[in-house]
Amino acid sequence: MDTMWADWRNPKLGARIRVALWLHGEIGEGQRFNKQQLRKAIPDVEQVDRRMRDLRPAGWVIKTYRDMASLSPDELYLEKIGTPIWEPGQRSVGLRSISGKVRRQVMERDLHCCLRCGISAGEPYPDDPTSTARLTMGHVNPHKHGSTATLEDLVTECARCNETAQHLTGVQLSPEQVWDRIKELPKKEKQKLLNWMAAERRSPSETEQVWARYRQLPAVHRAELRQRLGLALEPDGESPK
Ligand SMILES: [Zn+2]
Repeated sequence: MDTMWADWRNPKLGARIRVALWLHGEIGEGQRFNKQQLRKAIPDVEQVDRRMRDLRPAGWVIKTYRDMASLSPDELYLEKIGTPIWEPGQRSVGLRSISGKVRRQVMERDLHCCLRCGISAGEPYPDDPTSTARLTMGHVNPHKHGSTATLEDLVTECARCNETAQHLTGVQLSPEQVWDRIKELPKKEKQKLLNWMAAERRSPSETEQVWARYRQLPAVHRAELRQRLGLALEPDGESPK
């Protein structure tokens, strides 16, 4: 094939292919790099690091500080170059598409709520009321190699958590700070947290499940239910049925 054509600088190539070519040609197996270098090399592609993650299902092993303790948070390590997806016939290797059916099943199972933070579709973020949640699909463990587009490997996530789970974000507590918060939880909550940790997802409480169902109703029905519950909770009101 024409080697000039297979160049990471070629803007006519797909972003995933360009990232693969760049890693192959400029970094190489067993080398460290960082996202700034990647963004600088391919500045015209938005979310270029996401395209890099898309290489993982094609057998590329790219480690982050989450997988390798010796890396700093902005460093990555190219452990293994996988399928040369720039070659004809290899281009779609590892591209995972989630079918509409699977997407609907996952959303329904997760009650149309983000399994990471619990927010439901269209709900404003508590810490940023000007933006509302949009739901998307994420992988139970986004850093796991070979994650598939099946019901078991997918979770409903809001766009913000999806970004956070997959990107290396700036603001983070240290493990010790998180541990301090964990220690303060009552024992029952600790056990619950441990279960969530094991499953890599949180299970919504009864109240949150009802909340999710409520959120799916049209505004007029939500207003009606809100009034009804308000009345039911008044001291001399009817008891909730
Ligand atoms: Zn979320």
